[in-house]
Amino acid sequence: MSHPNTKKAKANSPATEDELVGLLEDANLPEYVQGQPCDLEDQDKPQPTRSSREKKYATIAGVLIALIFGGALAKVLSTLRAASPAPGADDTLYSNGTHEFKKTVLIVSIDGLRADYLDRGFTPHLLDISKKGLRAKYMKPIFPTLTFPNHWALMTGLYAESHGIIANNFWDPVIRSEFAYNRPEASWNSSWWFGEPMWETAEKSGAITANLMWPGPPVTTSGCSPTYYIPWRNLVPLQEKLDQIMTWIDFPLETRPQLIMAYDPSLDQAGHLTGPMSALTNKTLAEVDIFAKDLHNSLEERNLTDIVDIIFVSDHGMTDTSHPEWVYLDDILGEGYDLIEHSDGWPSAGLRFKPGTNESKYLDILLNEAGLNPGRFDVFTHETMPERYHFANHYRIAPIYVVPNMHYALTNRVEGESGVSKGNHGYDNDEPSMRAMFVAHGPFSHGAKSSLSSLSESVEAWDSTSDDHYIMKGFDNVQIYSLVMRLLGIENTASTNGTRSFWDPYFKF
Ligand SMILES: [Zn+2]
Repeated sequence: MSHPNTKKAKANSPATEDELVGLLEDANLPEYVQGQPCDLEDQDKPQPTRSSREKKYATIAGVLIALIFGGALAKVLSTLRAASPAPGADDTLYSNGTHEFKKTVLIVSIDGLRADYLDRGFTPHLLDISKKGLRAKYMKPIFPTLTFPNHWALMTGLYAESHGIIANNFWDPVIRSEFAYNRPEASWNSSWWFGEPMWETAEKSGAITANLMWPGPPVTTSGCSPTYYIPWRNLVPLQEKLDQIMTWIDFPLETRPQLIMAYDPSLDQAGHLTGPMSALTNKTLAEVDIFAKDLHNSLEERNLTDIVDIIFVSDHGMTDTSHPEWVYLDDILGEGYDLIEHSDGWPSAGLRFKPGTNESKYLDILLNEAGLNPGRFDVFTHETMPERYHFANHYRIAPIYVVPNMHYALTNRVEGESGVSKGNHGYDNDEPSMRAMFVAHGPFSHGAKSSLSSLSESVEAWDSTSDDHYIMKGFDNVQIYSLVMRLLGIENTASTNGTRSFWDPYFKF
């Protein structure tokens, strides 16, 4: 079948060049615009105290005055925030022997670190940190197991159908616009991103936050931004990221962030480029492990391991796709393939046909083909989507979703076999190779262990506690938001798809 219409071919292209190698483009990054200071929330909401609007105006006035005197905006905001009594976050001061610290949480995402990578022998330091602290057998990503949906799930505690980032690329039929993660000038506009990220909740609670390249918008729909924000750049050395994190940790109390989020993509990039079993992936894994060690040692040197909780996470795993079985959607759909207007969610295909198309006809064709030789791919509508995906109840989810199974890849006769890199993800979130990592160290992990020894009923929460290996059972990544809120002592949290009580067995200390 020939496809002379290049526009159509492009619309159905399985992947952009960037997606093939897992890169985010450097180009066209928007100038970061400092958001407004976040409204501080009253812990006791019914109490008729000074309104948040009044507080905001007071803060803005303070900022203007400070700017006149030449203060740096971020520092000024932080000082003002720290000067007022924090309505939510735990303000208790701890000493490391030389300085005072508030409870601090550092969450670091190593993109594409598959849960079982930790057992390969290339991560002695992460394993050592997890032995001093704890790890989970795995952390389950949300479906689809893609970078942006999962990084926003980690931030908000929401499934894709709740937070709206349903893929790395998708069409919004209401605003008639395309979300494409590699075009941040458009897609990092706050209007795409539903839900309240942990840094917004923390800022509203009076805490200072810092965001080092975590995938997502710099400002939320309410106009709230982290106090410090470093926008995405590709190929930033891990040492530079370590230096930035420790620079923040070394800030004076009044301006020091209590919540730091940091992100690194190098392992995901290696996994896409050469596959999860490759020498490059193992080499990059070892580099990430050294970064984790250096970060841990930097905290230890400052006597902060009983004050700072550090959480290493990843967003999804990686599977070998060097020799997939190909599924040619244009062969299956015939002339119907030309009627596809938008194809979302690569490596799946969320299909939107042109207006007037007999959709049910092509749905039947796809279902028939899937049924002829089961196990290659599934075809779902909102009504038939597996409930465990939590991926139906959002207008951005295309009405027909073709989901390839492991070892299969969707393509067409234009793209042929060029459409997939040697490693990939995005598949069923129950697949072991899609599982993500969770390693924690700090006061939380120490407390969690002591809770185990004092309360026998906590045993059910653990997969293994032998030989100083404290391994939690696998859990959903939508629980992370609640963990961070709990560590920061913030009670006034947003609604999530997680359950705050999930962490109870680990906090009985
Ligand atoms: Zn990723």
